[in-house]
Amino acid sequence: MQEAITNPKFKDPVKEYLGKFNLNLCLTCGTCTNGCPITGMPGMEGWDTRKVLRMLAYGMTDEVVQSKFPWLCTGCGRCVHGCPMGIDIVGIMGHMKSLRPREDVPGILHKGVLNVLNTGNNMAIPQEDYFFLMSDMGRELAEEECPGFYVPVDRENADVLFFPNSKEVFSDNEDMKWWWKIFYAARENWTIPSENWEAVDWGLFTGNSEATRILAQRKIDFMKRHTINRMIMPDCGGGSYGCRKGMKECVLEDPNNKINHIYLYDYLKEIIESGRIKLDKSRNAGQVFTWHDSCKHGRELERNFGKGYYDEPRWIIDQCVDRFVEMVPTRANNFCCGAGGGNWPMPYEEESAYHARFKYKQIKESGAHVVVVGCSNCRDQMMRRIPKFYPDCDYEVKYIWQLVAETLVIEPWDDEEIEKAQKEAAAQWERLGVVVDEDME
Ligand code: SF4
Ligand code: SF4
Ligand code: SF4
Repeated sequence: MQEAITNPKFKDPVKEYLGKFNLNLCLTCGTCTNGCPITGMPGMEGWDTRKVLRMLAYGMTDEVVQSKFPWLCTGCGRCVHGCPMGIDIVGIMGHMKSLRPREDVPGILHKGVLNVLNTGNNMAIPQEDYFFLMSDMGRELAEEECPGFYVPVDRENADVLFFPNSKEVFSDNEDMKWWWKIFYAARENWTIPSENWEAVDWGLFTGNSEATRILAQRKIDFMKRHTINRMIMPDCGGGSYGCRKGMKECVLEDPNNKINHIYLYDYLKEIIESGRIKLDKSRNAGQVFTWHDSCKHGRELERNFGKGYYDEPRWIIDQCVDRFVEMVPTRANNFCCGAGGGNWPMPYEEESAYHARFKYKQIKESGAHVVVVGCSNCRDQMMRRIPKFYPDCDYEVKYIWQLVAETLVIEPWDDEEIEKAQKEAAAQWERLGVVVDEDME
């Protein structure tokens, strides 16, 4: 084994960091470049993964840090997956992002990180607006099809802790109802936090590992304070992956930080298998479905934590639909949607759309009517950005929990359960100072 490269041009912390990766091991084979969707991107001529690694090996850190390359990297891990020497290119790109002065982080990402650290969510949504929305939307769902439903906030001894995505709290409000219907049908003892409720971790996207650690610690502290059994990992690929990374750091610091968590796939599988929810496949008859293996729930999760979710989502979809086709390639070889690493909100829309060219082709060639996804960034990219840049995108995109919610057979609670829940809801909103509009009740 060769020694790690020791180029005198490296600044010490950079040398120390890159020394961990032993760039001397790079064979310059170019497998990473071949697998990376940035290769050939208009405006990025002359840049590719292999070249970036060579530049770093020769001490050209400043040039890499000042370039767009690390920011266009979605962290999809296709390069590492193919690398014969197992070099952690995703980790290196994240570190290059961390070396950018914060005022030069592209777009709104750093502002979002400051927001989440200061206010508990990326968009700085005030707590009173959050409470009002939860109370109002919950009441709406109770009237529509789930009598007795309300959104529990800070419930002690809950079995499940759930984190809202600020996109849904800010604008896509109706999208929250899919999980809510599932919890209702499963009679889940669940809760959301009153503060620090953000599901998405932009610290991961900006190379801010300290922010990622702080956000994870807050989740851990909340779990302990309210003696909650387990938390569902946030849906956003980056959110759950960042949370997992952050929690790992927290546990290394203090083993008492270990808490129970469950991935949404395991949770859905558990409540379907145990019969807590019932599904009616006939609702989806006549449509062909496919599944997008999100990198952060599959390939990258597998590489970093030993297990990727490939079989579970396929099993869940199989409970909901009759006709399923695979995209090619799939599972660990799947192509990223192009929105990862913060590329959904970043100001590089054309580059992100170019990145998505493989995903567009995969979807079209699958012939599917519906692409099922498990990550909010993947969904935005396939539902909003790909159709903006590519022709004939006549497919729909659905979250896997949306598919489950739309396939659910909802059995309304009995009168006693409804009355109990209504009393709990009234007491909760009073405790939180939320005035429920009497006319709306
Ligand atoms: S795939 Fe690995 S060994 Fe080959 S060029 Fe890329 S980093 Fe080097
Ligand atoms: S993680 Fe994905 S986008 Fe980033 S360099 Fe590797 S293959 Fe390219
Ligand atoms: S947005 Fe989705 S497909 Fe893209 S990197 Fe994230 S998880 Fe992977």
